[in-house]
Amino acid sequence: MRDSSIDGTSFPIGRCERCGKSVLTYVALASDGAERRFCTHCDAPLDGEPEWVSAEELESLGYYFGSRPPVAGGCGCGAGGGCSRKN
Ligand SMILES: [Zn+2]
Repeated sequence: MRDSSIDGTSFPIGRCERCGKSVLTYVALASDGAERRFCTHCDAPLDGEPEWVSAEELESLGYYFGSRPPVAGGCGCGAGGGCSRKN
């Protein structure tokens, strides 16, 4: 489960052309000494202002806080469809 303390937090996301999707960004100094935002996955510099989203919206983009949500189906033992446990 996600920690409820992050529910009021916003996260900066931006469009990364190299990754081909919206990604979580971080701020760092570029080679010219200016602060810029970079992709957390491939470290490519991102142009423009980031979009600030809630933890819920961030999760809809494929990010997770804490443990992953349970996968639908299966018996819950973690073996997926190959589980042979009898109930
Ligand atoms: Zn990227």
